[in-house]
Amino acid sequence: MPLARDIIAAMAILKVIRLGHPALRTKSKEVDRKELSTKFFQKFLDDLAKTCVKNSGAGIAAPQVGKNKRVIVVHVDPKNPRYPNKKPFPLTIVVNPKVLKKSKITKEDWEGDLSVGIRALVPRSKTCIVTGLDRLGKPVTYRLDYGFHARVFQHEIDHLNGIFFIDRVKRKETLSELKEWKRYWKNKKMLRSRLK
Ligand SMILES: [Zn+2]
Repeated sequence: MPLARDIIAAMAILKVIRLGHPALRTKSKEVDRKELSTKFFQKFLDDLAKTCVKNSGAGIAAPQVGKNKRVIVVHVDPKNPRYPNKKPFPLTIVVNPKVLKKSKITKEDWEGDLSVGIRALVPRSKTCIVTGLDRLGKPVTYRLDYGFHARVFQHEIDHLNGIFFIDRVKRKETLSELKEWKRYWKNKKMLRSRLK
C-alpha cells in the first residue's frame, strides 16, 4: 500500500487556462460511471480539487484546466482572501452537475474567475437545487439557500456549457481589472448600499 505522503506527492497542481482558450467555450461531455471509477480519473479529481485550493478559488470547473468533462469543484473557505466573510462550504466535487431548479429572484454580486483578472457584477438566482454524482458515482442533491453558494454552483456549471461569467454581466460598466476593482469598486459605499 502506498504511503499517504506518496499519494500527496503524486498530486499535481494543474495549469489554469486563460480566457480566449477554446476549451472555455466548448460544451463539456458527461462522465460515465466506468470512466469515473478509473484510477486515472480519480487522480484527475484530486488534482482539480488541489488546483482550486492552491489558487484560492471558490470553485473550479474541469474546462478551466483544459479538460472538457462535466466536473466541478466548490470550496468556500472564509479564510480565502478573494472571498472574505462568506459562509463556508466544504471542498466538494460534483460530477455531471445539473441545476434542477432555480429561484426567479436574482441578486447581483461580484464575481471573478481564475482564468481572467477581471471582476464584474453578475445577476444570479438567489437559490437553486443542484443534482449530480459524487466521485464514487452516488447521486447527490444540494439545496443551495445561501446566495453565494448558489452563485458559485451556477458559475461553475456555466463553464460546462461554455458560458463565461462576463456573458451574464448586465451592468457592463462594472467590468473591472483587479487593480481598478480594488481602487474604485471594492469599498464603494454607494454601490454597496444599492446592492442591499
Ligand atoms: Zn469560473
